[in-house]
Amino acid sequence: MQIGTDPRWAVRVRGLARGEARMLAGLGDLVEVPLTRLAHEHDVEPARAQELFDALARTRVLAPPVENRRGVDRDPVPARLGDDLQVRSLLLADADGAAQIAGRARRSVRIEGLGRVGTVLAGALATAGVGTVVPVDPREVGPHETGVGLTERDVGRPRSEAVAQVVTDRAPGAVTSSGADGPDVVVLVDSYATDPERARAWRDAGVAVLPVVVREADVVVGPFVRDDRGPCLGCVALSMTEVDPDWPLVAAQLCSRGRREPAPQESLLAQVAGAFAAAQVVAALDGVEPATAGASFELALPQCVGVRREWPVHPRCACTEPPLGVPEVTPASG
Ligand SMILES: [Zn+2]
Repeated sequence: MQIGTDPRWAVRVRGLARGEARMLAGLGDLVEVPLTRLAHEHDVEPARAQELFDALARTRVLAPPVENRRGVDRDPVPARLGDDLQVRSLLLADADGAAQIAGRARRSVRIEGLGRVGTVLAGALATAGVGTVVPVDPREVGPHETGVGLTERDVGRPRSEAVAQVVTDRAPGAVTSSGADGPDVVVLVDSYATDPERARAWRDAGVAVLPVVVREADVVVGPFVRDDRGPCLGCVALSMTEVDPDWPLVAAQLCSRGRREPAPQESLLAQVAGAFAAAQVVAALDGVEPATAGASFELALPQCVGVRREWPVHPRCACTEPPLGVPEVTPASG
């Protein structure tokens, strides 16, 4: 008998008596069933049933204990996050999805640049339980930006206001303004190239930065810049300059063009890229190494399959300098 389908935990169980097989078949997907009742219904000895369930629990094919899925010492997880809770619990060694979701509720993400990609990203983060999502963009919603998160009714509204409403519609109680503590992650959504100055300012302030760059028919997500680990955007710029000495000039022109006439954001690409960027941010907030750490993913139309590109730490980048230590002071010897 095979139980589970995800190869990370699917198992095949051999040597089952007929009643035992029926008992295991009675386990529904993500449905809670009292073990003793199931054993009794199928005439399986309680000790044997316990043995089978323990074996399945070790392979993580069974959903974790209910207290780990609901959290006994915490606020209950909102019903709208029930599926997230179930599935996320499977991915954790301690099966404590409730703690993970409670952790997200305390985290803050700022999104600068609210076309369709930024709107999808903001909505996805709110839906996944991130407690504070701050959408920032001084421009107004244009008619071409609706259909993905925003609607006709939003045309002409300030984008930050319209996207803040998407966030609170998805997650009642979510905060959409920045607090005193500042964000944990800033996502910069730009057209054609990331503005290195903006990225550097956040990095210098100790905030993780995920660049998302919309180009003609693809979107580049990453590399995720966090603390002193891995390459920063300065490293990327230096690597680019080795290939094309004019890159700094070209990048400046691309940024300026992007501000003047932002790249169009095709609907499917925007949704894939926005959701992918959200998965990267949530990974970082959950303490999981994001796939975009040290790498970018180019998601290109028509099929939006991501192509990974790795970026090295550049030896000439200022980020590789060791931090200034406490100066050593010794008495001058006579
Ligand atoms: Zn660097």
